[in-house]
Amino acid sequence: MKRILTTCGYCGCGCNFYVNVKDDQVIGVSPKPNHPVSKGQLCVKGWQGHSFVNHPDRLTSPLIKQSDGTFKESTWEEALSYIAKSFKKIISKKGSDAISVFSSARCTNEENYLLVKFARSILKTSNIDHCARL
Ligand code: SF4
Repeated sequence: MKRILTTCGYCGCGCNFYVNVKDDQVIGVSPKPNHPVSKGQLCVKGWQGHSFVNHPDRLTSPLIKQSDGTFKESTWEEALSYIAKSFKKIISKKGSDAISVFSSARCTNEENYLLVKFARSILKTSNIDHCARL
């Protein structure tokens, strides 16, 4: 079994744990003792939130919805180009306030800062919200 030290990705607290890997499969986590944030403990999400890693239903590439409602697998380049074109189309037809941006508690402060900058400077909207506000 390999143990890989990492930071939990479930919220912005920054707890540290070892991911326990056997035969290229994640089989569990072990909290890092004496870590200044987690102090050898984890919440239930930190303990249990790893089953998605090897789940067969996990998406491993972007999907673009087609006009008939089906989804077509695409590359990241195709997906990001599609998103950029769609943003431009919506803004030209309805204005910047037709777009809103919704962030996540799973992002770091730095990622949330970048998203706010992207929304206000590039998309020109102040419609920004965050799931941790609930
Ligand atoms: S273990 Fe829990 S509190 Fe710690 S970072 Fe993960 S989700 Fe947040």
